[in-house]
Amino acid sequence: MEKKPLYEGKAKQMFATENPDELLVYYKDDATAFNGEKKGIITDKGVLNNKIATFFFELLGKAGIPHHLLKRLSDREMLVKKLTILPVEVVVRNIAAGSLAKRLGLAEGTKMAKTVLEFYYKDDELGDPMINDYHIAAMNLATPEQIQKVSEYALKTNEILSAYLKEKDLELIDFKLEFGLYKGEVILGDEISPDTCRFWDSKTGEKMDKDRFRRDLGNGEEAYKEVLYRLTGEK
Ligand code: ADP
Repeated sequence: MEKKPLYEGKAKQMFATENPDELLVYYKDDATAFNGEKKGIITDKGVLNNKIATFFFELLGKAGIPHHLLKRLSDREMLVKKLTILPVEVVVRNIAAGSLAKRLGLAEGTKMAKTVLEFYYKDDELGDPMINDYHIAAMNLATPEQIQKVSEYALKTNEILSAYLKEKDLELIDFKLEFGLYKGEVILGDEISPDTCRFWDSKTGEKMDKDRFRRDLGNGEEAYKEVLYRLTGEK
């Protein structure tokens, strides 16, 4: 397949294909945290995240959530629908951790009485500041109808993933999603993986996600491998 480099991000590289409606995504091992200030590598992360994201997209697709994945092509590559990404990142939180715990003075691990939905303006230079519906409308980042769809899909995704993961002894603490437009429709894009979610082992409370890298806990590769294994049985 002919591929032209389009954009290199922190975790993935995007290539144009012969089809203008499709992109090839290449998953790298590069790990970054704190808005790119901390950099490193998690060995084989690209392979593991490509497989984990494929699994999650297929699970969500079966439940009626439209997503960009067309086909996983190889260990590190997937073919996706080319979206116009909405510059609004969506975070769903079930249990306080990370920036929410810090900002609101909650102990990490505090269960929220209600699922929390947050929006962030996707802008690396500004450090992805948190915004609300009013900012989104005032800055024309998305229409109210699009945000309605985004919120509906994000909450449904939370239900589906939380239930599935619980059976595998993984607690879904929080996660980030990106959506985009494809032929006018709101579609789930980017990735769902231990880079973009927090997973804690239900029994031991052990962190099984990028916090292993952020917080120098070690064994990042093992944790990502274990997540893939619990989801798919693949070693
Ligand atoms: P970042 O840009 O934050 O460093 P990545 O390394 O993950 O992130 O790069 C992926 C980039 O591709 C992100 O900017 C993401 O918004 C964008 N993207 C994800 N899925 C699609 C898609 N289907 N179509 C177009 N762009 C996408």
